[in-house]
Amino acid sequence: MLRIGNHLPSSKGYLAMAKHAEKLGANTFAFFTRNPRGGAAKPIDESDIEKFLSYIKAHDINRLVAHAPYTMNLCSAKPEIRQFGKDMLRDDMQRMEYTPNQYYNFHPGSHTGQGVEVGIEQIADALNEILTPEQHTTVLLETMAGKGSEVGRSFEELREILDRVKLPDKMGVCLDTCHVWEAGYDIVGDLDGVLAQFDRVIGLDKLYAVHLNDSMNSRSAHKDRHQKIGQGHIGLDAIVRVINHPALKTLPFILETPNEDEGYAAEIAMLRAAYSE
Ligand code: FE
Ligand code: FE
Ligand code: ZN
Repeated sequence: MLRIGNHLPSSKGYLAMAKHAEKLGANTFAFFTRNPRGGAAKPIDESDIEKFLSYIKAHDINRLVAHAPYTMNLCSAKPEIRQFGKDMLRDDMQRMEYTPNQYYNFHPGSHTGQGVEVGIEQIADALNEILTPEQHTTVLLETMAGKGSEVGRSFEELREILDRVKLPDKMGVCLDTCHVWEAGYDIVGDLDGVLAQFDRVIGLDKLYAVHLNDSMNSRSAHKDRHQKIGQGHIGLDAIVRVINHPALKTLPFILETPNEDEGYAAEIAMLRAAYSE
């Protein structure tokens, strides 16, 4: 069965997100752990969590692919921004323990002129400071489009971060189709080749989730502009090959397309129809 859902608003709490997912025909979803622009998160409501956990079990909704706020930059040139990012990451790891055995995805960061090697070191240092052997959350590095000074624009850069993390079992990767396309990987013409490359450099066993987006731009644009499924430069055929690829088809697919509820429900239904069991 296809695991598919979208990025949902989190302001009404966990149970509301699960019901929202169900309404859209989703059986997985993403959400921001706090305001995407950063700042303090709402306190966890334990009774909401309790109802949520039994609801997702009853409705077979799994996985949660939480998303860190965009303001989290573990490799900024500014030490206070790095510290702010680490504080959010630590707090988010504690919050994620209320929904154990799920995923937490983040953008590795932007090195803001320090150079990619410094960026990689700082990201790994932050993870080594905060991750614990006791945690139940798998932290995913997202593949990036390579906009500005983004780190994670190639599989090699992600591998370099992973190599430096002392708790590798707590780490994985989330592949964003729009981002890898705009980073230069030809998932339209040669999906098998791109996945073989991923396997060589990182290992497909480290791939835990897919952000399923079309792109407004041509390959290697490095702009990061998502488009509705089938309306961009990746196109419906290539996206259908992604959800049906043997190396990917059991992963959770998260839509981050520019849609309202109606559009998400339609994309979910269309992709379910295009999925072969
Ligand atoms: Fe993202
Ligand atoms: Fe994404
Ligand atoms: Zn993006």
